[in-house]
Amino acid sequence: MLENTYIVGFPRIGEQRELKKVLESYWAKNCSFDEVQKVASELKKRHWNYQKEAGISYISSNDFSFYDNVLDTAIMLNAIPKRFKNLRGEELYFAMSRGNKSSVAMEMTKWFNTNYHYIVPELSLEDEYKLNASKIINEYNEAKNLGIKTKINLIGPITFLALAKRVDRGDTFELLHKILPIYIELFYELSKLDEVVTIQIDEPIFVKDNDAKILSLIKPTYDALSLTTNNIKLIVTTYFEHSTEATKILVNTPIWGLGLDFLYGSENLASLELIANSDKNLIAGVVDGRNIWKNNFEKSLDLLSKISQKVEKDKIIISSSCSLLHTPFTLKYENKLDEKIKNWLSFACEKLEEVSLLSKVFYKGIENLDEKELKELNKNKDSNKSRKTSPLIHDKEVQNRVENFKTFNREGKYEERIKIQKEALKYDSLVTTTIGSFPQTSEIRKSRSDFKTNKITKEEYTKSMKDYIDECITFQEECNLDVLVHGEPERNDMVEYFGEQLKGYGFTLNGWVQSYGSRCVKPPFIYGDISRPKPMTVDWITYAQSKTKKIMKGMLTGPVTILNWSFVRDDKPRDEVSKQIAIALSDEVNDLQNAGIKIIQVDEAAFKEGYPLRKEKIKVYEDWSVRDFKICVSSAKKETQIHTHMCYSEFNDIIETIENMDADVISIETARSGNELLKIFKKHGYKQEVGPGVYDIHSPRIPSVEEIVKQIKALLEVLPKEQLWINPDCGLKTRKWEEVIPSLKNMVKAVEIIKKEN
Ligand code: GLN
Ligand code: ZN
Repeated sequence: MLENTYIVGFPRIGEQRELKKVLESYWAKNCSFDEVQKVASELKKRHWNYQKEAGISYISSNDFSFYDNVLDTAIMLNAIPKRFKNLRGEELYFAMSRGNKSSVAMEMTKWFNTNYHYIVPELSLEDEYKLNASKIINEYNEAKNLGIKTKINLIGPITFLALAKRVDRGDTFELLHKILPIYIELFYELSKLDEVVTIQIDEPIFVKDNDAKILSLIKPTYDALSLTTNNIKLIVTTYFEHSTEATKILVNTPIWGLGLDFLYGSENLASLELIANSDKNLIAGVVDGRNIWKNNFEKSLDLLSKISQKVEKDKIIISSSCSLLHTPFTLKYENKLDEKIKNWLSFACEKLEEVSLLSKVFYKGIENLDEKELKELNKNKDSNKSRKTSPLIHDKEVQNRVENFKTFNREGKYEERIKIQKEALKYDSLVTTTIGSFPQTSEIRKSRSDFKTNKITKEEYTKSMKDYIDECITFQEECNLDVLVHGEPERNDMVEYFGEQLKGYGFTLNGWVQSYGSRCVKPPFIYGDISRPKPMTVDWITYAQSKTKKIMKGMLTGPVTILNWSFVRDDKPRDEVSKQIAIALSDEVNDLQNAGIKIIQVDEAAFKEGYPLRKEKIKVYEDWSVRDFKICVSSAKKETQIHTHMCYSEFNDIIETIENMDADVISIETARSGNELLKIFKKHGYKQEVGPGVYDIHSPRIPSVEEIVKQIKALLEVLPKEQLWINPDCGLKTRKWEEVIPSLKNMVKAVEIIKKEN
């Protein structure tokens, strides 16, 4: 049999989230670590068998992890921060990932432009690295004992260093000479495992705009690794974008194969000639590892034929575009989905079949397919056709409106608007507010789920939400906050809540995707043209406004964030989908203001996350994302004040873009960095008002009055009081009331002190 089907990696959390459940039970001390290992072994076995049964020739080992593969790599190198040095085994592993009584966890951050989070390795020049290959070797043998010969997945040394941080300051790449020998030693060990051993090294960092210095490390590193022993087939894999610069270098090293993503990095096509002229095998990523749509075989076969015009057919291996970690497991439990829509979808298990069938069609040719294969091929054609023509997807009215929507700018210039607003809203400076959500108590969660499962009536549900809103208002008035919020009790999630009310959105029962450690998210998916059948937030917000004389802030999630936290249809450009959402939201803004709401906040928490990995693509993204924020608020009158909120803390590169969004007020996350972050606002001459978070909501700690006074004074050194709002870092939904009450009281007291002093 030809070895021509390949999966970059498989999800590990389990189709029933078995790993999540057993880990959390172990952490809660309800079961032993043996139990966790038992579940892990069952999952690995199941996942290997799925791939084997589907006819995948390159199945991975070491793609499993109890928490995260980057953390596993740190352990493999013995890169253990000092504070954990007295721990061993699983205790060490989970202390590094989750912290323990005496030590804080290692930092966690997003894996490229995905919603998967990895643990940031902490390195220093004085570390002594040594090889710990046991996990890798055990997993290989575990599969081998089941009769499955795996390729071994590793995170490459250059990506590892690029993602790590130096605790002793300095450049992580200075440590390459220390970790490369460990990788070489590892290769020696792995080469003993079999006659021929295949190793996949992931180097996704190669898809970024790398400077010459990083690029100069590639050749020596991969020369050294390839020459370790002569029975290793070394494959270097990149994904999420093209890796043109690195490919040019890698073809001149002795590696065996190159894995490229042709879906999210179609520019890789330009490298085919180089690859053809080298002796490299090409692992061609053509089945989408980041989305949930059924592969369009016609398109994929076209793409493969394009590739094979340059690269010899028997050097091409058909693959997923990246690890399937970023897709849900299987459609088999989705018994609530509309059958028509379900027929358009493909999750990890279904994608295995796609890779397999594609390879048969590609290598054998349609004329040589057997009856069953031919039937599958036709089924694929039919479902793609039904999707293309379905009335569920295409809404002429929406399309016309999108085409003719030309008003991007709201009425009036900022300078004019803010004057009118300050008069109408009667405020001067240092206005206090919060970001929107209040603690999500177990009672409100229960109410929501009881309502969903018809255990309580709509009236009972509404009453319990309104009671909670009342409590939030009473508390905020007691606190003497200036601008109030309703607290968001009706929202399970800031995207799902809107998705559920927009036409064109679908939901799965079991479409979980790992976000970090044991945590999973279940993103909704956009399958059709988006419209808003009726107002989504107006009843709750106007109810809340009716209960107070103070100003109630309306609360929406912005178009770019809705888009980034959903699976998006692939039959339309992203920016067009985003524009549809923006237009639907602009109607909501208009309804809110017509109902008497004077301040409306449009959250763009995921605005930065959506940034392209390549500089060359940033301008296009900024153009449409700013356009769509502006469309969303274009219906706001001069006197309606528009706020936005972004929860990340790097603004240097995007300050101008944020200013162009033209929100009247932006609240941002700054509490952990003092006033450092704000300096860019001053330097840039940012004109709109800013609410830099004055305390960190990610920690249960209650900030003292003195501390907040100090923080506000630091902020005042940078921006004048007329330009500043005072608020916490982010929404309070993950906190407890015991923490929120004193924290906000202290925040208001601090502002009173500052105002008296001035
Ligand atoms: N309004 C939302 C909240 O307060 C914002 C959440 C976010 O920025 N992630 O929860
Ligand atoms: Zn936030």
